[in-house]
Amino acid sequence: MDGETTRQRYESVCQRIADAKARAGRTNETVHLVAVTKYAAMDQVRELIELGHVDFGESRLQHFLKIAPQVDEYLQRRRSLGEGDVPEAARWHFIGHLQRNKVRKLLPLVRLVHSVDSLRLAEEIQSCGEDSDSPTEVLVQINPTDNRNQHGIAPAAVKHLIEQIETMITIRVRGLMAMAPKTDDPEEARIVFERVREIFLEIQRSGAGGERFDILSMGMSNDFEVAVECGANIVRVGTAIFGDTEVAEATAPEQAGA
Ligand SMILES: *Cc1c(COP(=O)(O)O)cnc(C)c1O
Repeated sequence: MDGETTRQRYESVCQRIADAKARAGRTNETVHLVAVTKYAAMDQVRELIELGHVDFGESRLQHFLKIAPQVDEYLQRRRSLGEGDVPEAARWHFIGHLQRNKVRKLLPLVRLVHSVDSLRLAEEIQSCGEDSDSPTEVLVQINPTDNRNQHGIAPAAVKHLIEQIETMITIRVRGLMAMAPKTDDPEEARIVFERVREIFLEIQRSGAGGERFDILSMGMSNDFEVAVECGANIVRVGTAIFGDTEVAEATAPEQAGA
């Protein structure tokens, strides 16, 4: 990507988020950048950690189970060498489609699951989390245009699912996650993001999501600025930070469908 380094791309994404916040009059609000590692090499992830970045996201379970422990090990090593401002731990976000039989492996490593899209998946998270001291925090993934090629729950069913999750003790619903349809036109994404924000606010006002229903995760490399303008407080950005060339390790064929 234009000979830029990971660091330059990262700093440019941070700047673009800040600019979008300013345009939307949201300067005082926090927008978390989740760096999506699916096309990242380990040394690029290390580079971000050295810049103080802590939020990472992954959509494929196999890659997640590999890279999350590597990052932990790296942080531990840095700390034991007494090196500077190393964060305690990375915060991992799972953002991909999740199969129920994979939940048990995932939970101990993850801070926020963005992709809950069925009652059965929520129930599995609930039952796997029974031994843990704190509830698993999740977002409900909405499929805003009811697109058959996308995961997520239909807008009309979202509120009911959230009410059901609210009755579960070991799982806490924190908000919504959405993706815009693939398009080169960010303005098409805007219509979708505005709709999701409406639904988000509606649920907040109704009280269905409880007191901590306050996270809106939307926006990727192509459309994160529009998402910030539409009220997202988490954006999930991969390619714009890591580029799309260093894919050798991340896209080994056996991992493609995970
Ligand atoms: C891959 C992925 C992203 C990041 O996509 P980029 O276009 O590389 O920024 C964000 N969210 C989800 C759910 C993803 O699968």
